[in-house]
Amino acid sequence: MSREQVYNFAAGPSVLPESALREAQRELLDYRGSGMSVMEMSHRSPAFQEIFDGAKAKLRAALGVPASHEILFLQGGATLQFAAIPMNLMAGGAADYAVTGHFSKRAAAEAEKYGSVRLAFDGSGTRFDRIPSPEELRPGADAAYFHYCANNTVYGTEWSYVPETAAPLVCDMSSNILSKPVDVSRFGLIYAGAQKNMAPAGLTVVILDRSLAGRALPYTPEVMRYDVLLEHDSMLNTPPCWCVWMLSLVLDRLAEQGGVEAMAALRRERAGLLYALLDESDFYTAHARPGSRSESNVTFRTPSPELDALFVKEAAARGLLNLKGHKAAGGLRASLYNAMPLEGAKALAAFMKDFEVKHRV
Ligand SMILES: *Cc1c(COP(=O)(O)O)cnc(C)c1O
Repeated sequence: MSREQVYNFAAGPSVLPESALREAQRELLDYRGSGMSVMEMSHRSPAFQEIFDGAKAKLRAALGVPASHEILFLQGGATLQFAAIPMNLMAGGAADYAVTGHFSKRAAAEAEKYGSVRLAFDGSGTRFDRIPSPEELRPGADAAYFHYCANNTVYGTEWSYVPETAAPLVCDMSSNILSKPVDVSRFGLIYAGAQKNMAPAGLTVVILDRSLAGRALPYTPEVMRYDVLLEHDSMLNTPPCWCVWMLSLVLDRLAEQGGVEAMAALRRERAGLLYALLDESDFYTAHARPGSRSESNVTFRTPSPELDALFVKEAAARGLLNLKGHKAAGGLRASLYNAMPLEGAKALAAFMKDFEVKHRV
């Protein structure tokens, strides 16, 4: 199957804008007459510094990052931040964690090694099918920060509001960053692995309020200390150069398409199409409850695990790829990131209707 015949619903790494891939291909061997690929140049060279500064400036503009906040381009994935955050911000004290899914649960478990974790919410009792209301959140007193995951990639739920807390907000935005406007000034720290909506795997973006740096536990590795990383402008060691370049290309494409506001309208329409179909059907069941549903990852199931498996197989034969749910959640999942056109969601909806007619009992 060729790229033209496929819609890729992978949860991450996931589809990237074709125009960004084509530009990378054009400049793969020779970046703008330098005689070198971006993969081959020194991260200390003026050419790379320009790419790096450009990517940061474009990200700052795309998200409206205020002057109080710095952008770091790091390695280690969102998962390394599960440890870096408590090491840097908890100072051995306590922090609040809202556990609404797979990754926030892992983040909380990691943080327990470095201080006292208090669960402001635990959604495990209903298989992480919903986001708590603001009234349900139980933030503790004197928390160093309040951590939550804005979009639960595995279970397909998403916060529709930003919690109001006395403690600084720390948010994992791996699977919905750059897909809608956010008021960055409300957050102490935002982090995201790039491979869902920004760039190839290997880059982690951290956006942090500069005033939060400088409180790291003494044994924090240098390469994880925010104050040290800020001082070195993310280049204490070699940054993920190629991924930063790809991010820059993806951000160009985002700006051409109308920025995060345009992405927010697109994701609403794409996901809305699928949720409407799920709600009308008595064959499919949506996992997430109304009001908590993600517009990045739509999770659902057919009447049986056998039909789920058949769905994945028959969809793939039609060029609709990677619809199997995460192993922790089972069922099916369609990930709809920025580079997924509306036509992709329409093609999936058409297939779902056909599949239902064919296999309804
Ligand atoms: C994918 C994902 C992660 C894990 O990211 P890595 O970059 O693989 O460490 C963490 N949080 C969320 C919300 C994710 O979607």
